[in-house]
Amino acid sequence: MKPFDYRRIQTVEEIGRDEPGQARFLAGGTNLIDLMKHEIEVPDRLLDISRLQLASIEDGENGGLRVGTLVTNTALASDPRVRKTWPLLSAALLSGATAQLRNRATTGGNLLQRTRCFYFYDTARPCNKRNPGEGCSAREGQNRIHAILGASDHCIATHPSDMAVAMVALDASLTLRAVDGSERELPVEELHRLPGDHPEQDTVLAPEELIVSVTLPAPPPGRQMYRKVRDRSSYAFALISVGVILHVVEGKVDSIRIAFGGVAHKPWRAHKAEAALLGKAATEANFRLAAEAELADAKGYGHNNFKIPLARRTLVATLRDAAHSEQEVPA
Ligand code: SF4
Repeated sequence: MKPFDYRRIQTVEEIGRDEPGQARFLAGGTNLIDLMKHEIEVPDRLLDISRLQLASIEDGENGGLRVGTLVTNTALASDPRVRKTWPLLSAALLSGATAQLRNRATTGGNLLQRTRCFYFYDTARPCNKRNPGEGCSAREGQNRIHAILGASDHCIATHPSDMAVAMVALDASLTLRAVDGSERELPVEELHRLPGDHPEQDTVLAPEELIVSVTLPAPPPGRQMYRKVRDRSSYAFALISVGVILHVVEGKVDSIRIAFGGVAHKPWRAHKAEAALLGKAATEANFRLAAEAELADAKGYGHNNFKIPLARRTLVATLRDAAHSEQEVPA
């Protein structure tokens, strides 16, 4: 591991002091430390933010919830307000990683975790995300877990978070703090980038810009479902996941939100499928048409071709379950 400076900060005002070199925030460390051991991440400085007062979950405006960036995945999944009103988020969190990791992993860190592309972690193999311009080993290599939507010639990696998929479906937004102390709001849907020509950039965050909190607005009416398809039932990233909030009135789709995980470099809000369903009868045939509309541009790279029909079937099955579920509709 490359030597680095370590500083534990007590207040956000300590971020951005004129210090040389590249800094990274350290919270739970469940991804960053591994990346540093492999020398994939080689920061000059680690700013330990774990003692900042950002670990609370507070009632927000208009029935929303404000989640501090240091709230652990376990605390967020088990919060009674989240379980009652945002069960999609709770289910997504509990489908991720293991209990031990969820006890350490934080809300902000979960959003900023990096891809699990095999070649990103194999420093003997070319990878544009690790070393821009080097090439992409996955395009012609083992790409079973890779993207089917929004990829580029430079990178076909996927974003691994379950939690972020639920947050995108729930229209959550971030409060971000820049090094000059100014704050801005950003929808979670706009946090992650598609790879384009710069797969080394996962997000639109500026250097040392801090995720302070996530705001969950009151959810729309409807049943919330999270379905995750993976190689084993625990401690595995999604091959395909789907988060859905479906409200059916007199047999027609009154409102609908859909987000996919495991399909792209970012959590994928399925706007085309939503548009195809809104106002239509909540039937299996229309669910299939919506899935086909969203996946019309999907592209496989060999080993991951199976993910295209799998994504279609997973969406249809999740919509079917949501339409017929006895689950109580959150107030
Ligand atoms: Fe690297 Fe992206 Fe290619 Fe994986 S898919 S090898 S992360 S450039």
